[in-house]
Amino acid sequence: MINFIALTIFPEMFNSFWSYGIIRKGIEQKKISASTINIRDFAEGKHRVTDDRPYGGGCGMVMKPEPLAGAIRAARKKAPSAKTILLTPQGRVFNQNVACEFASFEGLILVCGRYEGIDERICHNFIDYEISIGDYVLTGGEPAAMIIIDAVARLIPGMLGGKNSAENDSFSHGLLEYAQYTRPRTFEGSEVPEVLLSGNHMEIEKWRLEASLIRTFLKRKDLLEKKLISKNEVKILEKWRRDIEKIIHAQSLRSPDTLSGSK
Ligand code: SAM
Repeated sequence: MINFIALTIFPEMFNSFWSYGIIRKGIEQKKISASTINIRDFAEGKHRVTDDRPYGGGCGMVMKPEPLAGAIRAARKKAPSAKTILLTPQGRVFNQNVACEFASFEGLILVCGRYEGIDERICHNFIDYEISIGDYVLTGGEPAAMIIIDAVARLIPGMLGGKNSAENDSFSHGLLEYAQYTRPRTFEGSEVPEVLLSGNHMEIEKWRLEASLIRTFLKRKDLLEKKLISKNEVKILEKWRRDIEKIIHAQSLRSPDTLSGSK
């Protein structure tokens, strides 16, 4: 069980997020625990102000350190062994490997910034990981926290219906997932690949691996370049190479001038 605690000045944003699909089921089945802490509850004064002008001038406001420190301490009381994560465009970029790493933690305290960000002293003294969800800037950390919670929660054993559902997902083995089909067998003239209807599980597995490899090659060559490729996968790539060489060879026999001209 992982305890997710989002620290935010807009806790209501999470209400619908906790209420649907796998996340809701996970909470009901006590596979995860999910809650918010309102940073404003730890702000002082009648107006409970959580932001102030930046030292040195400049535009925008900065989240004050005291309410953030109070909220983080309260979260740590609820989940003493949780890691504290700051959502920031300046952090390590989130991906499936980071999701797997986070899925091994007992809890995640997700600090959602707003305005121009948070006072730097909080980053230095309270934060275990700074995480970005990509090279673009959001108005607040809440959507980023939801993305992280969603991606991490589905890796917890038993969260997904099928036994191996997360295991075959894109990125889990350094490849994109194969193409998926469901009924009807014919849709507007397009057929489901015959092998998937054969009931032959070995052939289906072979087709899926090849389909995975070709997708990755066409859509995300960078993943293939980084991946430790298995012997089986090398065999498939070599088969493609032979097939491509055959096509080039046949072309050169047909029109040698065209090929030499294209050099
Ligand atoms: N001034 C900051 C900067 O340039 O680094 C950006 C602040 S942003 C407008 C407000 C908040 O949104 C941030 O404190 C952070 O919590 C969140 N945020 C924005 N972009 C994000 C991203 N790519 N990943 C994670 N959180 C992000």
